Amino acid sequence: MTAVEPDPDTSTESAEATCATCGVPVETDEWHPAATTTTDDGTVEIRSFCGRSCRDRWRERRE
Ligand SMILES: [Zn+2]
Repeated sequence: MTAVEPDPDTSTESAEATCATCGVPVETDEWHPAATTTTDDGTVEIRSFCGRSCRDRWRERRE
């Protein structure tokens, strides 16, 4: 019989994000530019960016 023990590491969430402008993976463990956007139904979404220039470009596109 094997004792079933809860795996302590299973709940580690992989906070994966991609740059909203160019689509490259963003290391969310490290500092990165981010912006919030509100959808039509009032949901606030967080956008991550690989760099400031991508955030600026994203902002320009939305205005
Ligand atoms: Zn980017």
